[in-house]
Amino acid sequence: MPQAAQSYYRATAGDRVPATPLHGPMEASVCVIGGGFAGLNTALGLVERGVGNVVLLEANDVGFGASGRNGGFVFGGFSRGEQSLLRELGPQRARDLYRGTIEAMSLIRQRIDRYGIDCDAVDAGVVWANWFRDPEMLRQRQRLLAEHYGVDWQWLPQSQLRERIHSSRYHDGLFEPDAFHFHPLKYARSIADAAVGRGVTVHERSPAVSLERRDAGWRVRTPGGTVDAQTVVLACGGYLAHLNRRVDASVLPIATYVMVTEPLGMRMDEVLTTQAAVYDTRFAFDYYRPLPDRRLLWGGRISVLDRKPAAVKRLLYRDLLKVFPQLDGIAVDYAWSGLMSYARHQMPQIGQLQPGLWLAQAFGGHGVAPTTLAGEVIASGIAEDDPRWRQFAQYGVVSALKPAGFLGAQASYSWHQFKDAFKDWRERHRA
Ligand SMILES: Cc1cc2nc3c(=O)[nH]c(=O)nc-3n(C[C@H](O)[C@H](O)[C@H](O)COP(=O)(O)OP(=O)(O)OC[C@H]3O[C@@H](n4cnc5c(N)ncnc54)[C@H](O)[C@@H]3O)c2cc1C
Repeated sequence: MPQAAQSYYRATAGDRVPATPLHGPMEASVCVIGGGFAGLNTALGLVERGVGNVVLLEANDVGFGASGRNGGFVFGGFSRGEQSLLRELGPQRARDLYRGTIEAMSLIRQRIDRYGIDCDAVDAGVVWANWFRDPEMLRQRQRLLAEHYGVDWQWLPQSQLRERIHSSRYHDGLFEPDAFHFHPLKYARSIADAAVGRGVTVHERSPAVSLERRDAGWRVRTPGGTVDAQTVVLACGGYLAHLNRRVDASVLPIATYVMVTEPLGMRMDEVLTTQAAVYDTRFAFDYYRPLPDRRLLWGGRISVLDRKPAAVKRLLYRDLLKVFPQLDGIAVDYAWSGLMSYARHQMPQIGQLQPGLWLAQAFGGHGVAPTTLAGEVIASGIAEDDPRWRQFAQYGVVSALKPAGFLGAQASYSWHQFKDAFKDWRERHRA
């Protein structure tokens, strides 16, 4: 069994007694496999719709994967950019999909209220800070979002940006006011508790090791027992379930890294005088946010390598000092990595693969709102025959072309990184 990341989130989520592993045979109407946001939201969505006898199996503990390790940004949209969605789907379908993620943000807020979830939510928006001098990329995205998606991202001129983010690195920025940030592991555990409170049975340390067709349903086997279910939902993200070859073959697990500094006290004011979360306009962007105890959470990079904490710390510390040299010398208390799952088309794979077998994976690095949307469309698809999941039909289960896909992903990442570095160099030398 892989080790849980010794993350800030684990250190601050509080003690918790894990659910017992599955032992012996049981029957269920729906068996959800994977206790990340995709699986948890599906399970909760099902019981909120009155479906009984729902079982969730998690190989490690709830929130073990990307869902309990991420940057904590809750924002609209998908990993695939809005311009591509528009081109591929046309204005109406692209807008409908995007709106689903905005509604998902509202649902997260409602659930925080409804279930009394304490997850350090900070409702202060997200800033997209321009790494480059050229404002056109921001202008274009702002126009596109307003015209085609009905979303208003506010312009932050350089003076206003630098009042909030004390770095000469950035030029101007856009502000997404509806976005927020939170402690994702506390949220994942609370969603699990809410689901259990409404009747879901959760078994942790219960990896599904096989999945076979049986009569009109499915048999899921774990080392300690079996679940016979009419319906199965696969939601295993980048931590591949090894239950269905086609499903595993359609995603690339890609690592990204996070670190958390020591509490900065008054020094936080030297870098941020905003509670907003921040990311920048490069392909391989930095993302960061202030934490309630005045630490800075800093994330970035994407790689096919799942690095050790010491290497993560070294790489991210260098990145941090490029933006905030005034923090030279601060200590880093936590560093970890997590795996995202990417499809070749960079959109989530959501839907019914064959009668009674559903899939929710490939949320990439933009998954908090989309996994909530996935939970809703799958739960309403199962419970109410709602056809909304078919909105994702264009982005199906296509081979990720492994192992060549890994080389392709790393090459594409390096190429974009080079292009961004070159653009930066050209702008500086023209100045
Ligand atoms: C470091 C990092 C930072 C990120 N930052 C952000 C961010 O700020 N905002 C944002 O929107 N998105 C972010 N993302 C992306 C987001 O976290 C993911 O897209 C989302 O959490 C995916 O959820 P999931 O449920 O699909 O997968 P996961 O959360 O990975 O869950 C999959 C679960 O399935 C379990 N599992 C696997 N195989 C089996 C099996 N055979 N049986 C039982 N269980 C199994 C695993 O143990 C795991 O718990 C980030 C991701 C990472 C890694």
